[in-house]
Amino acid sequence: MSIDPLGEFLSRMHELKDLGGVLGVLSWDQETYMPPKAAECRAQQLGTMQGLYHERLTAPELGHALAALGARPDLTPDLTAMVRNVRWERDRAMRVPARLVKELAERQSLAVEAWRGARVRKDFALFRPHLEALVALRREQADALGHEGERYDALLEAYEPGMRVERLAPLLERVRESLVPLVRAIVGSGRRPANPLAGCSFDPARQWDFTLRVLRDMGFDLEAGRQDRSTHPFTGGGGHPSDVRLTTRLLADNPISGLMSTIHEAGHGLYEQGFAAGDARTYLAQAPSFGLHESQSRFWENLIGRSRPFWAHYLPQVRAVFPLELQGVELGPFYAWLNGVEPSLIRVEADEVTYNLHILVRFEVELALMRGELEPRDLPEAWNARMRDYLGVVPRDDAEGVMQDIHWAWGEFGYFPTYTLGNLYSAMLLEALLRDVPTLWESVARGDLRPARDWLRTRIHLAGYRLPAEDLVEQVTGSRLDERPFLRYLAGKYRPLYGLEP
Ligand code: ZN
Repeated sequence: MSIDPLGEFLSRMHELKDLGGVLGVLSWDQETYMPPKAAECRAQQLGTMQGLYHERLTAPELGHALAALGARPDLTPDLTAMVRNVRWERDRAMRVPARLVKELAERQSLAVEAWRGARVRKDFALFRPHLEALVALRREQADALGHEGERYDALLEAYEPGMRVERLAPLLERVRESLVPLVRAIVGSGRRPANPLAGCSFDPARQWDFTLRVLRDMGFDLEAGRQDRSTHPFTGGGGHPSDVRLTTRLLADNPISGLMSTIHEAGHGLYEQGFAAGDARTYLAQAPSFGLHESQSRFWENLIGRSRPFWAHYLPQVRAVFPLELQGVELGPFYAWLNGVEPSLIRVEADEVTYNLHILVRFEVELALMRGELEPRDLPEAWNARMRDYLGVVPRDDAEGVMQDIHWAWGEFGYFPTYTLGNLYSAMLLEALLRDVPTLWESVARGDLRPARDWLRTRIHLAGYRLPAEDLVEQVTGSRLDERPFLRYLAGKYRPLYGLEP
């Protein structure tokens, strides 16, 4: 064993972060510029790198260093947090037998292939055996990871450390009980805002330039990051605040769609660029949870990017870029259309109000799957029944129903709730921000986004992963996770928009 466990720990932690960054750049390239014929070679390279990462993470030397440091009471709070974060990841990796890791990886790539084919043919039966295998493997993995009777907890822990079904389920149920009647009332209002952009086509080059302008206004540093195009927008890169890569997707008939995707990813990107320079290459330069990461993207996309003050400033600017296409488009009708609520079948196209009901459907059925209360063969029926009850719409086939997302084909169970947690956290943060900066909306209406960016940077980004997500949010807002700010936000915005009683 090394005589200097701290030096050993630090150099191994830096190495893990470097390897993670290399994996990030390879994956980014795979989704953006890699020539199509390189797909097989890249898959092999990624497999090799992941194997190397796993080997370094589970190396006995790292275990010895962690054990030696764990016994030392004189560590600084930052070192204590680093040790805790590395140990958390290592312990989880150690608990799952190599055979299971390998079987999962093999099953995942087969299942994704089968899922693609089954979607095209709208035939769940083609996907079902793969899903059955993945569910069985994930149940086994959850048991290997360890839990106190609730398998889902062990999987949820990967994305939302510390969160438990016991707390999450009642909270999401309250969200559902509040949203179902709100959606019904909105539908019942009979208002369906018209699309003021209908029938127009928008030059992609001008759209692209406009997304870059908004990126700069948000304070995204294009010398420490970049934006490219991909089929599915994401944020990735070198895992370092100096190398943060966003992607977006532009639509010819709707310039707002691409802009919203840029703003969403920039919310993630500002978080990644906002970690303290001194924390780079350590396990402090990361978000404490997926939900908190998502709170940043949703804060920018929805709370700021779909607000009236934001568009009071930016609509004239978009109009200047597309003067013919946007001739006569006024703020009121534009804002109503941008925030149109309509129950639909597809999660990624859903509005702010119905979105979380899509998540509820997924959470409830995947929880039942992990509990063994539901088997994959009964999934379409369980899905469709909930869609009808919560949203009042029923898929015509399983491609636009239970097979619409890639997550389950990847064997990812426990991920979906982080989207809703992001929404809940974002609304809590907005209420706290407005207490600290009461002039926020005036700044936004002038196109000055710095007060919001700076507030998030000092309170959330610079904190990195020193505290668990909920503790950090409590430190910033004064409250533990709470669904009420989000429900207040929705009621305050959408009841007036749809002419409903407050
Ligand atoms: Zn996101």
